[in-house]
Amino acid sequence: MSAAESLSEAQRPNLLGLDRQALGGFLRQWGESSFRAGQLLQWLHTRQETDFAAMSNIGKKLQARLAAETSVAEPAIIADQIAADGTRKWLLGLDDGNAIETVFIPEEGRGTLCISSQVGCSLACSFCATGAQGLSRNLDTAEIIAQIRVARRCLGLDAITNVVFMGMGEPLLNLRHVLPAIHLLMDDLAYGLGSRRITVSTAGVVPGIDKLGSVSPVNLAISFHASRNEIRDVLVPVNRHYPLAELLAACRRYPLPPRRRITFEYVMLDGVNDELAHARELLRLLRNIPAMVNLIPFNPFPGSAYRRTPLARIDAFREILMQGGIMTVTRRPRGDDIAAACGQLAGQVQSGRRSFPLAVQS
Ligand code: SAH
Repeated sequence: MSAAESLSEAQRPNLLGLDRQALGGFLRQWGESSFRAGQLLQWLHTRQETDFAAMSNIGKKLQARLAAETSVAEPAIIADQIAADGTRKWLLGLDDGNAIETVFIPEEGRGTLCISSQVGCSLACSFCATGAQGLSRNLDTAEIIAQIRVARRCLGLDAITNVVFMGMGEPLLNLRHVLPAIHLLMDDLAYGLGSRRITVSTAGVVPGIDKLGSVSPVNLAISFHASRNEIRDVLVPVNRHYPLAELLAACRRYPLPPRRRITFEYVMLDGVNDELAHARELLRLLRNIPAMVNLIPFNPFPGSAYRRTPLARIDAFREILMQGGIMTVTRRPRGDDIAAACGQLAGQVQSGRRSFPLAVQS
């Protein structure tokens, strides 16, 4: 047995974590043309073929070496639940015993996959189930990409039209792995989603917003949730590092393509952030920003301390924003009977840390 054949599965590079550039570099080290990277991407991602022997335009020698020295490894499906409204949630088991959640939201003419970027989250937003767990670790690129693969395998290769980084974790604190995942999602030889079909949602990590804008300006969503620093400091504690004025300045300089808007998410918490005066303040803050607002009725989870704003007040809040010229929609809770709605994702997180290491990885 050669040294290469004796590599254990865990020691082999997982090809699913390599975007076109990284895969090209990897193959060049083997003396192969980087042209092969495109072919390999198509097999691995567009077609989701995992058997190298079936990759007919790849030479037998390279097939054998790939089989011996690399892996194509994905998390196992631990649970697969379908809600009454068709929302589907998978619990995926990672090698280290952690588990993450991924949610598919079917709508007329589109299928949105909500993916996780971290195991748990360090940002400790007070109304979020994931925030209550703390952070265990970042997902790597293969673990992020595996989520779309599992969904496509279960639902069909064309089922996913949009991907949102709105599952567990803060994507802008894991850009090192999120950016290559975005490249793969957008690559015509991998998943081929256009930049307008991908949305990164952030609690407001300002340096990460700038970095994303300079590298891959996809749609941006901001978990805004309050019109005043004293309220936002409590709901979204990262606001103490990047207060409203800094966050809004980052939104203004985000290189949004023409005719696109930044989505501002606003969770409606009874008696906390839902006064009509808050709506008027929000209107003023969003002036001069191409913005739309998503009002999210609070979704309760075990141990949560908040209540959902009554629907009539959500409507009145929305009316003020609409009158002020801001497109505003109230998000229907999807999949809440299987705890798949916004803020209910918990997975199985080991030893979460709540302190925030805020360094943005590049
Ligand atoms: N960390 C990123 C990605 C998570 S997105 C971010 O904060 O944007 C998850 C969305 O669901 C965020 O807008 C979050 O604020 C919202 N959310 C969290 N908990 C919620 C809850 N209990 N009810 C409704 N929305 C919630």
